[in-house]
Amino acid sequence: MTVNSEFSNNGSQSASTEQIPWDKDALCGQTSPEAFFPEKGTSNRDAKKICGQCEVARECLDYALENDERFGVLGGMSERERRKLKGLGAQAITVEFENSQAKNRRL
Ligand code: SF4
Repeated sequence: MTVNSEFSNNGSQSASTEQIPWDKDALCGQTSPEAFFPEKGTSNRDAKKICGQCEVARECLDYALENDERFGVLGGMSERERRKLKGLGAQAITVEFENSQAKNRRL
């Protein structure tokens, strides 16, 4: 999976051809997408662990927020965690992101 892959806001697959400059560095591109879109009630730990090592995690989170991506683990955060960032300023988002990534790296 890569963020440039084929998941749209409603969780369905789409034929997106949009190029995202940092997508080639997305660590999830080397794994299967299932971990990033866990079934309800299952763990997203594996995905977060990968995100914790990803060099483009902040870009990924910004992309998810800007595009209102509502499904899956992106930028090291679940959809619920990203929802909590809505309305926060850039500095607060940075703090939340860094705390999240610090946790993800300990998984
Ligand atoms: S932060 Fe996670 S979902 Fe985003 S590009 Fe990196 S590995 Fe993929």
